[in-house]
Amino acid sequence: MVSFFDLTQEELKNWLLNNNFNIVHSKQCFRNIYNLNLPPWNELASGLPLGLEQAIRDHFSFTDLSLDSFLISKDGSTKFLFKLTDGNFIESVAIPESKRITVCISSQVGCRQGCKFCATSKLGLKRSLTTSEIVSQVWMIKQWIQTQSSHPFLALKHLPLSNIVFMGMGEPLDNIDNVYKAINIFIDEFGFNFSLKRISLSTAGYIPGLLRMIDLIPNLPIAISLHEVDDTRRATIMPIAKKYSIDEILKAIEKIESVTKNEVLIQYVLIKDFNDSFDHARKLASLLKGRRVKINLIPFNENSFCDFKTVEESHMIEFSKILFSHGFRVMIRFSKGADISGACGQLSAKKTL
Ligand code: SAH
Repeated sequence: MVSFFDLTQEELKNWLLNNNFNIVHSKQCFRNIYNLNLPPWNELASGLPLGLEQAIRDHFSFTDLSLDSFLISKDGSTKFLFKLTDGNFIESVAIPESKRITVCISSQVGCRQGCKFCATSKLGLKRSLTTSEIVSQVWMIKQWIQTQSSHPFLALKHLPLSNIVFMGMGEPLDNIDNVYKAINIFIDEFGFNFSLKRISLSTAGYIPGLLRMIDLIPNLPIAISLHEVDDTRRATIMPIAKKYSIDEILKAIEKIESVTKNEVLIQYVLIKDFNDSFDHARKLASLLKGRRVKINLIPFNENSFCDFKTVEESHMIEFSKILFSHGFRVMIRFSKGADISGACGQLSAKKTL
């Protein structure tokens, strides 16, 4: 059975046409399923001709994820372990902030990029997620938040779930078609109606995919995981650096600057005694000189898969000051959810919850 969540509204219109229904109903179908915050099987009826409601029920399944378990961090972040129909597992994280909730979603089961510091990479790539499996993560988490009654989220129930980051398991640009379709559904005004500004895609630096994505959605906010200033050293922690150089990344940033006003977010994970020297900070500043970027410093989150160590907070602040002094906007992201292995680079979808 086809999942309803696999279809963009355009594709739903084609389906309506092929099944002798008027395409005007596509909006109402989308609205019922994505916007009403209610399980679709209760609400599908509203505003639709009876025959159409039945045809949708007969033809489509809905979410293909089942919630296996969840863990709540001291900071309120909640990590969800979802089971897929083929028995694989993926993780997503809901991160409450002062005014909103951000969901960090996965694009693949595992990842083929092999970054040495990342727990997900140790799984290898099992497969890419379907559009429906990507969309379902947000849909399931939205439903879940609404139905909580005794949970730290309770106070946050009224916060909008407004931001989505493709920073969970997987390299989103290795699954570009489904990620593109999912973004379409996220921003569809009759779908989830997210603002494109509040969606962000992070890549390890797969340049052909990045250029294609920018062609498809020029204003999509992009984050690039740089993590080193020298190609050879970068390749020791990120195998993708053997194929695509920092120079190519910089050229892609120039391209982004030419098509959108967005700032690219440069992600830099600080690993003790590897890429955290002040010389690194100065080189990073000189590499990015003149580029319209914001720098996101992330403390390395230790995991059981590698021996890297994290950096002291005071050291991160000194590192950031060097970048500030060169005029860059710098954010230090103290990862949330580290106590539940829900922070960056800690997602491994192990059934230990
Ligand atoms: N594949 C994409 C998105 C995945 S992860 C990418 O590489 O960008 C999101 C961010 O977490 C990336 O910047 C990634 O490099 C970073 N990350 C991975 N492992 C980490 C760890 N152990 N500690 C901190 N950040 C980590």
